[in-house]
Amino acid sequence: MKLDNTTENKEIASRYRQLLKVSKWSREKGDITIIRKAFVMAVDAHSSMRRKSGEPYIYHPIAVARIAAEEMGLGTTSIVCALLHDVVEDTDITLEDIEREFNPKIANIIDGLTKIAGVYDTNSPQAENFRKMLLTMADDVRVILIKLCDRLHNMRTLEHMSDRGQLKIAAETSYIYAPLAHRLGLYTIKTELEDLSLKYTQPALYQELKHKLNATKEQRNRYIRSFIKPIKLELDELGVDYEIKGRPKSIHSIYNKMVSKNLEFEDVYDLFAIRIILDSDPEDEKMDCWNVYSITTSIFKPNPERMRDWISISKSNGYESLHATVMGPKGQWVEVQIRSSRMDAIAEKGYAAHWKYKDESKTLTKANNLDNWLTQIREILEDQDGTALEFLDEFKMNLYAKEVFAFTPKGLLRKLPKGSTTLDFAFDIHTEVGAKCLGAKVNGKLVPLSYEIKNGDQIEILTSAKQKPNKDWLNFVKTSKAKTKIKQSLKDEKRVVAGLGKESLARKMRNTGFDYSVDNINKLVIYFKAVDELELTFQIGKGIIDKEKIKLQEILVQTAKVHKPGSEREESTSLKKKTSSELLLGDATINMDYTLAQCCNPIPGDKVMGFITVGGDIKVHNTRCKNAQNLMSKYGYRIIKAQWAGEVSIEEDFEAGLEIRGIDSLGLVSKVTDIVSKQLKVNMKSISFESLDGTFIGKLKLQVSHKEHLEQLMDVLKGIDQYIKVSRIDLDNVPKLTS
Ligand code: MN
Repeated sequence: MKLDNTTENKEIASRYRQLLKVSKWSREKGDITIIRKAFVMAVDAHSSMRRKSGEPYIYHPIAVARIAAEEMGLGTTSIVCALLHDVVEDTDITLEDIEREFNPKIANIIDGLTKIAGVYDTNSPQAENFRKMLLTMADDVRVILIKLCDRLHNMRTLEHMSDRGQLKIAAETSYIYAPLAHRLGLYTIKTELEDLSLKYTQPALYQELKHKLNATKEQRNRYIRSFIKPIKLELDELGVDYEIKGRPKSIHSIYNKMVSKNLEFEDVYDLFAIRIILDSDPEDEKMDCWNVYSITTSIFKPNPERMRDWISISKSNGYESLHATVMGPKGQWVEVQIRSSRMDAIAEKGYAAHWKYKDESKTLTKANNLDNWLTQIREILEDQDGTALEFLDEFKMNLYAKEVFAFTPKGLLRKLPKGSTTLDFAFDIHTEVGAKCLGAKVNGKLVPLSYEIKNGDQIEILTSAKQKPNKDWLNFVKTSKAKTKIKQSLKDEKRVVAGLGKESLARKMRNTGFDYSVDNINKLVIYFKAVDELELTFQIGKGIIDKEKIKLQEILVQTAKVHKPGSEREESTSLKKKTSSELLLGDATINMDYTLAQCCNPIPGDKVMGFITVGGDIKVHNTRCKNAQNLMSKYGYRIIKAQWAGEVSIEEDFEAGLEIRGIDSLGLVSKVTDIVSKQLKVNMKSISFESLDGTFIGKLKLQVSHKEHLEQLMDVLKGIDQYIKVSRIDLDNVPKLTS
């Protein structure tokens, strides 16, 4: 049956009056004028449109405005924007009209909502859309709150859509909107979105669970009554007004439990939670909650593992509540949630209910958790280079990550996702602190950057001006902020090095008569198997590609010749073994065969001595060598004088061992290897690192040409930080493990 126009108009007017009624508490005097104006504009603009259900379109904006007011506790601006949220997208009204008729703030929010709508109508990947949506939202959180109201109403009326449309919207809802609602502390809305989504993605299962929940309702209520009874008796004596609710858990959460724990419906015991809401004054509420906790757990034994205190430290989405899981009658665990009516309002409607947007001149001045979160979002969004999907993963991880809390040395509380490390903590304090982080003291004890924070840790970050973020840090940071900042810094650094490389390459090309042209650069890129110009110039700047050895003539002129990339570099390394170093044994330069002792591996420049073995061979030891000293003391007559000849081939390689000790900081291993193999181009035969209570010991086996060479390397390594000690060790002290 179709309603005639007059009946419809009456219905529209009635829905509008209901909206005014539910928004009464959040409106100031005079606000009604602007709401009426928005309503009239929306009615006019949508007058010829109908929803898929056949109803007048205006029912939808009114319903969205009502959700905003009634279920989120939003104020006048949001109600106005909700009423107008589809007009720019779907009708002839423009943003300029809105700005003229209302104000720039409202126009700005409508603009955000319109952009989101635009984004979703295209066929670009969902993740990219989501990122765009958050970009828009970062301007004003009301954009996202109203978008959530819009989505909730669309989900509530989804039955009129085609099957395919239903699935798409339902999937999107569970993928993006429910997590978002969760993060914003809108638990009721999150739960409803999840349930509605399940209803369309798994209809049969949803109906079955719904049926089973209904069928067990009476039995459950009986149990709840028996559970509540003794608690009520005691609460009545406390003299605080209270309300106890036994609430069934959502179908979605039951479904989740069945899937994740592989249970049948009948085996899911916590189908409901008991909620005790106290009507306390704000100054008494915590005390009252703890009193009720104490009463409850003296009647029923609590499970200490499942006690949750979010009243001393609230969740970062604003949630405050005290949770206990106790052993109820018939040996059944029951979750009890204890909170004040103020806390309950936050839990039901989200923090939004407590943000005051009435004064347009004041934005969120109080540094609350949501602000911090929005700041984080902005920071993630700054990372324009990451893929959208990567971004979404990190974002979602941050949404769902449980929290740990830790203290600064001054006792300030900071919350981080569970699994965060001291390096995350450093970045959380400040980007610069993170970038310069060397290590940390947790509860007075030295820990590495990768230390996983535990609740209540007090963390002092140690920094050094010399410190720089490096790639390995990405392996153990958890927060998006730290990841983003590290990646940014690495990119910046790479650009700087590449800039230097480009400069010197350009100079070399100029001097040899080649243009620094796209064509020529491409040839070099291909020849050196680099990904692009940036990578090529970076490798030159870093010395990975030796500028001096680039044979421009060959590469650029003889383009017809097929190059075997890398062959040039291989050639230069194979040169190394040609000459042999001279060792003078005995009094003369008699050519005697000798080998270098494996225990100490002397290198040119070292003081050495020869030792005649039982088999008649000569072994050359470093005079520092403990074995050699032992041999000398016992078999002095077998010693033969030895010394290096003046000229030593630079290309000859000798093995030497180094030990590095210092303060443990992760990323250090790669720093050491970087210096050794990339900066100084020393071959590493093996490397081992171990850490012990904040200190580390690293042992390296290297190929060097001369003592001086080794000493240069040691000097550079000592420059890593002030705590580092570098010393030469005998090779048999280096583990055989090869890298
Ligand atoms: Mn809409």
